Amino acid sequence: MVQCVVYLDRQHSGKPGKRAKDTGAGADIDGDGIIELHEQEALLTPRYIWAAELALRAAGHIVIPISDGSYTDRFRRINSYVGTFPRHMPQVMIACHLNAGRGSYGSCFYDYRSRSGPELAARIAKQLRMVAPELNGVKCIAAKPDDWTRNAFATIQCTPVAICFEPFFIDADHAVELSTPESMTAIGRSLAAGIDAWAQTMEGK
Ligand SMILES: [Zn+2]
Repeated sequence: MVQCVVYLDRQHSGKPGKRAKDTGAGADIDGDGIIELHEQEALLTPRYIWAAELALRAAGHIVIPISDGSYTDRFRRINSYVGTFPRHMPQVMIACHLNAGRGSYGSCFYDYRSRSGPELAARIAKQLRMVAPELNGVKCIAAKPDDWTRNAFATIQCTPVAICFEPFFIDADHAVELSTPESMTAIGRSLAAGIDAWAQTMEGK
């Protein structure tokens, strides 16, 4: 089995200074007329991050959770950890998000320049599709600095192959079913299964 190092970045949380209260997107998922704290992106992603970490560790992978700092600072930190592991170990960074904008699909964004990005995104998308039939498919999208994908592009600028993971839209109808603890656990496990499947394709590379 190929063991890999996975950086799970709980983005939006832990930004210093003026942006410290950033929690990402929010929506009135339970329909009571208020967008509560627990209905905000950075307070929801830990539900699937935890399940992913548990499954990855159980499968023998190394997990490094990241949850604070400016994104530039996080990338610098992740890059500084890369060399502390043996060179043969694949390393992966997941920028953990939920999408906003009432779309119907899940998304895995990869850096358009990345060699391994499309394969990693495809493996994760395949697993997510299986646990989230509420989604109208899962798209693998090349993120670029100069078009509508620029925000996703900005979340994955580190040395390891990276995915901006947006499993569903927080403000779409499907969020009611997909944000339950059970669905979030399934989503986290699917993320882990996709990373593990990708890692096994790196055997001997
Ligand atoms: Zn986000």
